[in-house]
Amino acid sequence: MSTLAAPAAPVQQPAWPDPGHVATVRDALADRPPLVGWAECADLLAALADAHRGERLVLQAGDCAERFADATDAALDARIAHLYALADALRADTGRPCVTVGRLAGQYAKPRSSPTQTLGDGTVLPAYRGDLVNGCAPTAEARRPDPRRMLTGYDSSALALARVRASRAGRPAAEALYASHEALLVDYEQPLVRAHATGRYASSGHLVWIGDRSRDCDGWHVRWAAALDNPVAVKIGPTTTPHDAVRLSRLLNPHGVPRKLAFVTRLGARHVHRLLPDLVTEVTRRGAPVLWLCDPMHGNTVVLRGGAKTRPLQAIHDEVAGFVRALRYRRQPPAGLHLEVAPDDVTECVATPEDTPAVPDRVALPRYTSACDPRLSPAQARALLAHFARLL
Ligand code: PEP
Ligand code: MN
Repeated sequence: MSTLAAPAAPVQQPAWPDPGHVATVRDALADRPPLVGWAECADLLAALADAHRGERLVLQAGDCAERFADATDAALDARIAHLYALADALRADTGRPCVTVGRLAGQYAKPRSSPTQTLGDGTVLPAYRGDLVNGCAPTAEARRPDPRRMLTGYDSSALALARVRASRAGRPAAEALYASHEALLVDYEQPLVRAHATGRYASSGHLVWIGDRSRDCDGWHVRWAAALDNPVAVKIGPTTTPHDAVRLSRLLNPHGVPRKLAFVTRLGARHVHRLLPDLVTEVTRRGAPVLWLCDPMHGNTVVLRGGAKTRPLQAIHDEVAGFVRALRYRRQPPAGLHLEVAPDDVTECVATPEDTPAVPDRVALPRYTSACDPRLSPAQARALLAHFARLL
């Protein structure tokens, strides 16, 4: 008999200044009502089963990092209306209805590739880790982790979920919008796990995903999500081996049900052709069932001279094309897209990086309001959906 290795220390957790204070916040979260009920998670599982049969496409989209300041009715309703508009456009382009899942109502914690940020004047600050942990403003004071933010995160998520539920009125139940976020922060997610009649689920959102930096099979995040009944997604970056992918699929979909698990590949336009075919082949042959989604954003980020991050639209389109081709070749359905989008006419992603290198970022990217990664404007998102529809 083999025993499971103890989960490795959770990655990307904040260094809270006062452990006693964190314990108080965790107790408070554990006493609060669930943010989402189990019945809604079960409805999403049923919708994802339709996607697994190819009857629906999945559109998962929203901000890279939500801000507490944007948890107002007007700002939430604008983002929600945009998600419905994108889902309607994808349905019109493909003839297939969508399962629409927002990066919304809890997308407040960010993994970072560097623990620090160096400002233009050389000042080094702790990185912004999302509103759930610290502030975005470039000062040492704002960047100090504050566990009380987890309670504000709960309240902001509750406001957003109220708008999500209100938005469903007058729309067919099958077109309901669901909420998802990266379940990164142990001290937030663990106290929000709740029991339902036959098991346990994360009550922080309908679908939770594990990021590319925390998908270690022996790590806390995978072990935690494996014990939950919610639909779960995992980001699959270019360092994921076929062996890892098979193991992840079995750990996260232990009963092999074809609705439970999505793999969100984010390999980059340059690597997708080389890496995706083997991943799909091995998971199809030896793994548990997964729904394959394409995140064409995170593998195609480039940094401009002034330090701003952007994403070339050509690379984004190319990765989607490579994704569809690889899945078709392996006779698996390309089930949908995972995007970072803004409801406003932002200039965060560029046509090609060559458009911009000669001018400072503030000229090249004048409407850049993302707190973290660059998002598609509404027109850019529509064009990408039309591209995906043509490929299908
Ligand atoms: C994200 O989705 O914002 C993100 C950080 O993605 P990844 O884990 O794929 O890098
Ligand atoms: Mn992002």
